Amino acid sequence: MPIYEYQCRRCEHRFELIQKFSDKPRKRCPECSGTVKRLISPPAIRFKGTGWYVTDYANKKSNEEDKKSNEEDKKSNEEDKKSNEEDKKSNKEDKRETASKNKETESKKAKEKKEKKAS
Ligand SMILES: [Zn+2]
Repeated sequence: MPIYEYQCRRCEHRFELIQKFSDKPRKRCPECSGTVKRLISPPAIRFKGTGWYVTDYANKKSNEEDKKSNEEDKKSNEEDKKSNEEDKKSNKEDKRETASKNKETESKKAKEKKEKKAS
């Protein structure tokens, strides 16, 4: 929701309003009931007075977003577990292959040794 700042034309009293878009703009000064004008670019100081509202709103929003991203993290973790199990399987297959290869090379070496001895 936007925060609007108004200034009274008569007594120059400044006040802020948090308004829904559907709300009609305030036209009377709360101090002197004079006509007011809406300030188009309110100063940054406005956050000091209404900061509690702004921070509350921001915190709520970010908390909800954190929850969402946490759930997404859980999902991706489960997917990681699955892929890890698949990796383990393929690792076992790799070990088998390397083991059989090692046997082959060992037997080759043994043959070479025998041939060397023979010559
Ligand atoms: Zn006024």
